[in-house]
Amino acid sequence: ASTLTIKDLHVAIEDKEILKGVNLEIKGGEIHAIMGPNGTGKSTLSSAIMGHPKYEVTSGSINLDGEDVLEMEVDERARAGLFLAMQYPSEISGVTNSDFLRTSINARRGEGQEISLMKFIREMDKTMDLLEMDPNMAQRYLNEGFSGGEKKRNEILQLMMLQPKIAILDEIDSGLDIDALKVVSKGINEMRSSDFGCLIITHYQRLLNYITPDYVHVMMQGRIVKSGGPELAQRLEAEGYDWIKAELGIED
Ligand code: ADP
Ligand code: MG
Ligand code: MG
Repeated sequence: ASTLTIKDLHVAIEDKEILKGVNLEIKGGEIHAIMGPNGTGKSTLSSAIMGHPKYEVTSGSINLDGEDVLEMEVDERARAGLFLAMQYPSEISGVTNSDFLRTSINARRGEGQEISLMKFIREMDKTMDLLEMDPNMAQRYLNEGFSGGEKKRNEILQLMMLQPKIAILDEIDSGLDIDALKVVSKGINEMRSSDFGCLIITHYQRLLNYITPDYVHVMMQGRIVKSGGPELAQRLEAEGYDWIKAELGIED
């Protein structure tokens, strides 16, 4: 199984330090959740892992199976088996969903290992069916005019087709109605295996009613300040974050 190891990660945006020493290890077979108030650096963490140019890693390390992720270009990170579902997926006009997906899969597989068109279509049909997606979605331009729920389902379609080693899902649950939430959860649960590790970033405990994480972490002010099991998410839902602030002596 794969391991993503983040050590003492410091990240700045435009010279302002946002992450102030994050430590986290995600192994294949594990589902981790990061929760935390708005503006604490959750999306900054996912952007830094994927190599968004705006996020400067000032110190610390990110390794995937011993390889230095910070030395990799963005496309190399995807090829190495990292997957990021963004909080706000971008629209690409002129590129169909299906073409985008096949190109991504082939980029991940590498030259000479391309998926056959038949196999690709078969797997896409099957996965779209599982995610209860309209078959027409395959031929639409990527994310163009997709509803919030369609975008999120589409991210999970990409996840399931690409079979990454480690996935980071940033607020995959935001703006979803309960049916879409169940479908998205079904897709993620379907991925569960010793070959797949997952970091779910979420504001709400709701999603975690459908996907039981092995570990729950609380991020505040750019650090993971508390870790526990699924019961921690339930306590946050019931009591909010103030008790953690009090426990740690953190002030707003
Ligand atoms: P979260 O995902 O936990 O809500 P973010 O990582 O999005 O938090 O943001 C953390 C902090 O970094 C916030 O203060 C936010 O304003 C700032 N920030 C995030 N992205 C940018 C950006 N692209 N430019 C400037 N500041 C940013
Ligand atoms: Mg936010
Ligand atoms: Mg965010």
